[in-house]
Amino acid sequence: MQGWKLDARLSDEGDLPVIADVDVLVVGGGAAGVAAATVAAEAGKSVVLVEKYGFCGGAAVAGMSATICGLYLATDRRSQPEQVVYGFTDRFRSRLAARGGLTKPQVYGKTWTSAHDPLMWRETADELLQQAGVRIFFHTAVTGVLMDGAVHRGVVVESNAGRAVIRAARTIDASGDAAVVARAGHRYVFGDNGKIQNPTMFFRVGNVDMDRFLDFYGDDTICPPKVTDAIVAARARHYDLPRQKIWIFQTTRPHELMVNATRLSGRDGRMLNVIDPVDFTEAEIVGREQVRQYARFLAEHVPGCENSYVVDTGVEAGIRQTRSIVGVDTLRNSDVLAARKRGDGICRVPWPIELHDGDRPKLHWLLDDYYEVPYLALVPESGENIIVAGRCLSAEHEALASARVTAQCFEYGHAAAVAAVMSLDDGTPFRKIDGGAVRAVMAANGSAF
Ligand SMILES: Cc1cc2nc3c(=O)[nH]c(=O)nc-3n(C[C@H](O)[C@H](O)[C@H](O)COP(=O)(O)OP(=O)(O)OC[C@H]3O[C@@H](n4cnc5c(N)ncnc54)[C@H](O)[C@@H]3O)c2cc1C
Repeated sequence: MQGWKLDARLSDEGDLPVIADVDVLVVGGGAAGVAAATVAAEAGKSVVLVEKYGFCGGAAVAGMSATICGLYLATDRRSQPEQVVYGFTDRFRSRLAARGGLTKPQVYGKTWTSAHDPLMWRETADELLQQAGVRIFFHTAVTGVLMDGAVHRGVVVESNAGRAVIRAARTIDASGDAAVVARAGHRYVFGDNGKIQNPTMFFRVGNVDMDRFLDFYGDDTICPPKVTDAIVAARARHYDLPRQKIWIFQTTRPHELMVNATRLSGRDGRMLNVIDPVDFTEAEIVGREQVRQYARFLAEHVPGCENSYVVDTGVEAGIRQTRSIVGVDTLRNSDVLAARKRGDGICRVPWPIELHDGDRPKLHWLLDDYYEVPYLALVPESGENIIVAGRCLSAEHEALASARVTAQCFEYGHAAAVAAVMSLDDGTPFRKIDGGAVRAVMAANGSAF
């Protein structure tokens, strides 16, 4: 990291007020955190969820990542979508759909994905968490960790009310950035030897003539070659369009499209290290500028978009990858390529390796198959009473480019909560819990294996 030093271990909380003392603390209210907090509370544990924004959803909502990927098998046979991931993911999916917050599956290359409404995503999370009895602290950020040697005892939080402590018997780090793990000094890696996938600023456009748009673009959300050709040609006319293969989704609202097109790097062309606020700031500003360039391109070159306007962007630039923990086990690239199934697997992943690096994202499909993620990829190699859920799991670079999508993040949260409940009930450390036993409880909860 440039300039910012992370040093937040605290062994003595001094005079800080203790605002909660719970069985399970969940840090982060993205897909993984919402699942983890709901499942742990439904199992009868006292649960606090801490989220720095005023709403849940993380990359899916603040980053407006558009769709729930990772539910369906990819195939060369143009057939009906075959769903292979259930459990908490399907509970959330169906509640969101019941509110009208999810489109029908849309074609994405050889698979399908459904676009979600970011406001209804928030509301669905509010409903599940409240019904489960989770105590939520929005607008509260974790800034430090309470440690007793290697044992996690809770966190230090900050809000505009000041600094305080939350004590917890078990902590689930669902921050996406491994915020707790990093503050505790446990090992993590940063992309591929420091190289991470590029961020993207999402945006929505309204007032689209959908019939004319679909007639031109087709029903695959990955752009047809003629759009790529038009982007390349427009670049020569001084448009700033660094990415030439883009995705466009219909939303749940009439006449509206969600656009995944930008590719954010520094003004000097460098990779942005978005864990550092200096680079994150540059990503936001460059992102907004690039959104206008792509919106202008759509209006001038894509039929049906002539009178479109930008409705909004993500609340923040979408961050695909920052820290990945060094786990007791690691999801390997070879596990993905071999579609490896395993007795300690806690989630199926049928999503391709979708690597955003360079001017065209690279896709490696897993046809008619999936792999499974090992339980111990959620457990940091050092530290006790701590487990992670979500995109900061232990995974090699290309493997993470597949395993990070939303359907899977829900199930990682589900798995982490099941393990936390087991650990609380019989005192077994996370690292000694049998992944097969976690899988069995998840199956009883409706997950598919
Ligand atoms: C540009 C982009 C496009 C994508 N497209 C898709 C797609 O189309 N479909 C799909 O399924 N997936 C997509 N993804 C991936 C998917 O959105 C994410 O990987 C997934 O949502 C991550 O969920 P998570 O719960 O692990 O973490 P996050 O969603 O990142 O949630 C972490 C939460 O923790 C909070 N937090 C972080 N630090 C702290 C702290 N110190 N204190 C308190 N709170 C904290 C954050 O505010 C956030 O709410 C995309 C991602 C990006 C960036």
